[in-house]
Amino acid sequence: MQLDYSEKHRALQSEIRAFIAAHRDKSPKPGGGRRRPDRRMLEWQALLLEHGYFGRTIPKKYGGYGAPPDVLEAAIIAEEFSRAGVSPGIMNQGISMLVPTLLEVGTEEQRERWIGPTIRGEVIWCQGYSEPGSGSDLASLRTRAELVDGHFVVNGQKIWTSSAHFSDMMFLLCRTEPDKPKHEGISYLLLSMQTPGIEVRPLTTMTEQATFNEVFFTDARVPADQIVMGRGQGWHVANVTLKFERLLLGDSNKLMQRLHRIREMMERTDIDGVRLMDRPEWRDRLLRLQGEVMASKYHGLRLLTDTARGEDSGVRRMIVKYFGTLLAHRLSSLAVDVMGANGLIYEPSGESADGDDATTWWVDYMYDIGLIIGGGSSNIQKNIIAERGLGMPREPKPAQPARVGA
Ligand SMILES: Cc1cc2nc3c(=O)[nH]c(=O)nc-3n(C[C@H](O)[C@H](O)[C@H](O)COP(=O)(O)OP(=O)(O)OC[C@H]3O[C@@H](n4cnc5c(N)ncnc54)[C@H](O)[C@@H]3O)c2cc1C
Repeated sequence: MQLDYSEKHRALQSEIRAFIAAHRDKSPKPGGGRRRPDRRMLEWQALLLEHGYFGRTIPKKYGGYGAPPDVLEAAIIAEEFSRAGVSPGIMNQGISMLVPTLLEVGTEEQRERWIGPTIRGEVIWCQGYSEPGSGSDLASLRTRAELVDGHFVVNGQKIWTSSAHFSDMMFLLCRTEPDKPKHEGISYLLLSMQTPGIEVRPLTTMTEQATFNEVFFTDARVPADQIVMGRGQGWHVANVTLKFERLLLGDSNKLMQRLHRIREMMERTDIDGVRLMDRPEWRDRLLRLQGEVMASKYHGLRLLTDTARGEDSGVRRMIVKYFGTLLAHRLSSLAVDVMGANGLIYEPSGESADGDDATTWWVDYMYDIGLIIGGGSSNIQKNIIAERGLGMPREPKPAQPARVGA
């Protein structure tokens, strides 16, 4: 791993710093992925796209900046925006998960149609994977789609669908080949949330906000060409998407940004006449967490080195989601703890990452518990690391109940 930058990369770093200095007043607050981007966000996104600080390596014909792939450039951009505390652009499931999936396995027509509007923040996507009874065991999903007269007719139910209430589109996993083994019978469809036969019902979480939903399908018709790869290849596509989801959920730049927010809050807040940062018990906890965030950052650089060398990171990539989401939760726990009695104030209408009041940190604290589960729970990540990463024996299947009379 090489930690110093070349002249070209140092030049990019200075260019970004100059850009941030000139434009930081236009930046929305970082975060906000749990609502539709407002006008300020869309304008900021357009500015980032124009300068190549977002969608940098996405080809121009799909609405990106068209720079050649350079993993270090991507790392420098992320680091500089995180360090300066300005928004790195829109982060949502469409941009972070569907766009790279289409770039990897979509058709030319699908890329041209969807990537541009998605990275500009005009089209918002939700992820229709989980079902009641099919979360960790996703491949057992039962929502079915039958091909009738050039359309897939979808019937079934999804659950925990984040952002479905304000999304334009969904990427959906459904069973199209019921007679095939479970992993081979799944397809991956792209569909409009305006399709007749779709009903979205909000689910209120312990934050008292409704960030995810149940989605019901009754004879919802999806044009047959809105399938990614072929019939029965949805499991492969789903895993491509999950790879990007897990990297997103454990992103070390987000951890670093959160660490800076806590540090700033502890530096400027006094309780009983003592600055929070001057209380040894809180400062020690902050420093320990800072060490772990730094470890996560350098781990990210190791992964970049693997990518730059064209090597598969294997087990090293698998630990990002597991470690990152637990660490994010420990960071928000610290923020809530240092506030003492003030930390008990909770206003349910508060928005995460928009401020530093107790509500904001509580929303993060509670939502972070969800991220330890979403995108594959920590228990499942540990199974994957053990079995696929370390080659340990597979966990035994639960015993089946004995059949009466057998
Ligand atoms: C904040 C949040 C956002 C989400 N957003 C979306 C979304 O947008 N779209 C979507 O499709 N889904 C979404 N989900 C759903 C998420 O993917 C599932 O919650 C997750 O996959 C776990 O599935 P489950 O809830 O059915 O739990 P289960 O699979 O029932 O698991 C229950 C518990 O058992 C444990 N467990 C299960 N199997 C094993 C095993 N083999 N070994 C060890 N432990 C095991 C799990 O770790 C967990 O603790 C979201 C979830 C959260 C919390």
